[in-house]
Amino acid sequence: MREQLAIEGGKPVITDALPTIKNASGRLFGQEEKQAVLEVMEEGILCYTYGQRVRRFEREFAGLMGANHAVAVSSGTAALHTAMVYLNPDPGDEILVPPITDMGTVIAILLQQAVPVFVDIDPLNQNMDPAEIEQHISSRTKAILPVHIYGSPADMDPIMEIARKRDLFVIEDCAQAHLTKYKGRLVGTIGDMGCFSFQQSKHITTGDGGMVISNRDSEFGRELRLCFDKGWPRHKHVRDHYFLAPNYHMTELQAAVGIAQLAKYPACIERRRESAFLLRDLLAEEDAIRPPGTLPDCEETYFHYCFTFDRSRMLVDGEQIVASLNAEGLECELGYPGTVPLYMYPMIRDKKTYGSSGWPFDSPAARRIWSYDEGLCPEAEKACRRTVVLPWNEGLTEEHVNLIAAAIRKVFSAYKAAGDADGPLVADAAGCWPAADQRKRHTEGLENV
Ligand SMILES: *Cc1c(COP(=O)(O)O)cnc(C)c1O
Repeated sequence: MREQLAIEGGKPVITDALPTIKNASGRLFGQEEKQAVLEVMEEGILCYTYGQRVRRFEREFAGLMGANHAVAVSSGTAALHTAMVYLNPDPGDEILVPPITDMGTVIAILLQQAVPVFVDIDPLNQNMDPAEIEQHISSRTKAILPVHIYGSPADMDPIMEIARKRDLFVIEDCAQAHLTKYKGRLVGTIGDMGCFSFQQSKHITTGDGGMVISNRDSEFGRELRLCFDKGWPRHKHVRDHYFLAPNYHMTELQAAVGIAQLAKYPACIERRRESAFLLRDLLAEEDAIRPPGTLPDCEETYFHYCFTFDRSRMLVDGEQIVASLNAEGLECELGYPGTVPLYMYPMIRDKKTYGSSGWPFDSPAARRIWSYDEGLCPEAEKACRRTVVLPWNEGLTEEHVNLIAAAIRKVFSAYKAAGDADGPLVADAAGCWPAADQRKRHTEGLENV
């Protein structure tokens, strides 16, 4: 007889709270951050314009990334919007973006009156599929905005090749991919600009906050610093405003925390990777589960630990699986950014933007009237229904991961249909799926949603 699940009244596997990013238990906060904030208060300079700490945080972040420029801003969404202000599209111009990301990615596009054009994902890693890009390029396309989702890099080589050939700008959304490596290079330094978030759930945090990095020279586009500072050339010591731009200053308090957090980056990444690899190994025999897929020669940094399951081997759907995992004491959700891709939320589907105008989806400036219906990106829609999203953090120990694996195994063995198994999938030690047959098996059998 199978073990009684907690959702049916059985005993939950996890009874004590696991570490979480929602408080200090899952974060690397210490005396350093506390001291840094106190120093700012004692000096009495809280604002970026008069202080030195935001500048120092920018310099140190740029140094770590090997980027020519870094500007700190108030959020990840602000970072992406700052990049859009720099790009300066005409209203109705088009930006290619994946539908599996945080809404902040798309908000940045809409705030600049540009149109998000959704490119379907590669089911392996749920990032923008390079093979799907060219069919969406038009005379109005200005940029490609790949997102490195869950800490796993998008396939940047083919994306950059298309962008160079078609003269498009590339903005990388690295909000979930701090220190993620694509073939030896840090993400954020491959495209024209990279955007980061320091919101509380990201790898390092300033509460809220963000950063834009670039290796371009400042001759291209508008000067980056003006793009989040009211178009104001403060270095000229006169009041002037060159163009429309928001105020997205980071405060000195946030930067003080950010500088202290930078020192903890390596430990954060190492711990997340170590515990994620452990979970992957503990679930290796669970053949209805597909572990996170990473491209060859890449390093994933595990913002979330997301696995997909083979619906054809399960007796119940994703909602039931997740509800059962929750009952076992494991915090997780079905799908990211939810059970549907972004374009099915009212903001986009119902064009809830500027008054009743429907801008920019439905405006004289746009090339056509844009609509976003179910079926637009079939792979993304399927992924949202078969992905279990476990929030990950650097506070997880071996003991915690053992409990997480036990909860998952309990639920999956209770709900798994009898039948032939192919045997487990095997990734290499770095968590990548190098072989084509392994890659194929990672995604097949997932059609039956
Ligand atoms: C968090 C996040 C953002 C937005 O960052 P905020 O700081 O929350 O505004 C954008 N894109 C992705 C992929 C994110 O995870």
